[in-house]
Amino acid sequence: MNFNGSETETLTAPEASTTDAPTRITVARGDGIGPEIMDATLRILEAAKAPLQYDLIEIGAQMYNAGHTSGIPPAAWDTIRRNKVLLKAPITTPLGGGYKSLNVTLRKALSLFANVRQSKAYTPFVDSHHPGMNLVIIRENEEDLYAGIEHQQTPEVAQILKLITRPGSERIIRYAFEYARVYGRRKVTCMTKDNIMKHTDGLFHRVFEEVAEEYPDIESEHQIIDIGAARVAAQPEQFDVIVTLNLYGDILSDIASQIAGSVGLAGSANIGDEVAMFEAVHGSAPDIAGKGVANPSGLLVAATQMLVHVGAAEVAQTVKNAWLKTLEDGIHTADIYRSGLSRREVGTDAFTDAVIERLGDEPDHLEPVRYRAGGIQVAPSPTPAQEKVLQGVDVFIDWDEADRDPNVIGDGLQQAAETVDWRLKMITNRGVKVYPDGLPETFWTDHWRCRFLPQETGGIAFDRILELLGALHGDGWDVIKTEHLYTFDGRRAYSLGQGE
Ligand code: NAD
Repeated sequence: MNFNGSETETLTAPEASTTDAPTRITVARGDGIGPEIMDATLRILEAAKAPLQYDLIEIGAQMYNAGHTSGIPPAAWDTIRRNKVLLKAPITTPLGGGYKSLNVTLRKALSLFANVRQSKAYTPFVDSHHPGMNLVIIRENEEDLYAGIEHQQTPEVAQILKLITRPGSERIIRYAFEYARVYGRRKVTCMTKDNIMKHTDGLFHRVFEEVAEEYPDIESEHQIIDIGAARVAAQPEQFDVIVTLNLYGDILSDIASQIAGSVGLAGSANIGDEVAMFEAVHGSAPDIAGKGVANPSGLLVAATQMLVHVGAAEVAQTVKNAWLKTLEDGIHTADIYRSGLSRREVGTDAFTDAVIERLGDEPDHLEPVRYRAGGIQVAPSPTPAQEKVLQGVDVFIDWDEADRDPNVIGDGLQQAAETVDWRLKMITNRGVKVYPDGLPETFWTDHWRCRFLPQETGGIAFDRILELLGALHGDGWDVIKTEHLYTFDGRRAYSLGQGE
């Protein structure tokens, strides 16, 4: 096949196995071992009569070299957006500056909110320290600290905004429960750090409790992320589906794939409302490219996730069970071949033939998979209206005078505030209360969070904050940022200072 990068080619699977119209997907053969493992995967899908049609696109190294800094030419974007499902082989990321990561570009531009990664041990047929491990991590992919909103505010202090939204949380959590149903899993564990971050992680945990009630057939539990991650490392067999925030999920999924001992066999899915992308977890393995020895399993497993996604759960089940039977029969590519465990070392083609020969078979020792028909669709419910009342303001000030004595800044701010009928409630430094009545042992930076409340009660208009800021500015204070203090339906919606 020839690719010129700006056109798509079409290859139609010979016969679809169902009477439904085939799903048209986009296929990127990638770099390095990409074309070899993609051809192997497509050969198995065709033999299984997967109800698919393919449009091929060229993305990756060649496109980077042709001057597309994101690795994707405009025509490929059109195809991806039109077909809505992308099966992608690994891409070689060019070294040096000026290039954008293709995966990050796809994830962000297409709003792929869920990252789904299974970590499973295939013992005794493939080595692993955790024989019973079989967990799936569903990671929120767009929010949290990865929104990338960072600022330096004083010579000593930089900050990042951690954004957690109700619809974003609901969508990923609902996805996790729907996933559990379709894939026949029994438990969903939510991991957060809401004992510390009560308003952000607390929101995610609260939404989890709400959504869990709608899935009484699936067990649900919550664990604090630190102890949860330790348990994933020590006893991963306790877990089934884990749903968590972006940063925790990023770290946790790497720990899980590492200890499963089967990174080369793992697939990954990135799911959006419109578009979904499926790929192997591993990279383009340039060291073995073109040698015919690459293991196509990671991409094939991703392809089975894709089949479930498009509603072809039965074909997905057939392919996955044939693949499990192949592993179980000891027919292994070099990366997983171990004498004593394996029976025959094969290259990519022979492995592919072995899977095709076993279509219709089920494994005898490994647990066969059972997938429920129908893809996974989630839609967050509308957020109920809430009464929002402005109660005060936190003003952040850059101040580095008078040996950073909190009483000096405190008394000075208090005086300025009184002129416009405000009062200074407290000052914190890195979250710890330092005024009034701070402790001399507390470490002080040049970054002061000063909480002001108006003299009047019952809520204020925004103009009152402008009056306060005018007074502070007029008195020479270096205001670097403000945060409003609200109640929602009468509930305090901001944290107290430590020691407040
Ligand atoms: P890699 O996963 O490509 O290779 C690591 C090791 O595993 C190598 O020894 C390789 O031979 C082996 N390996 C990987 N996949 C294999 C397979 N299917 N069968 C047999 N052996 C396999 O990681 P790397 O070397 O760090 O990265 C190579 C390139 O891939 C880099 O340019 C990197 O940026 C890119 N990459 C792309 C993706 C992606 O497109 N999603 C993901 C990770 C890395």
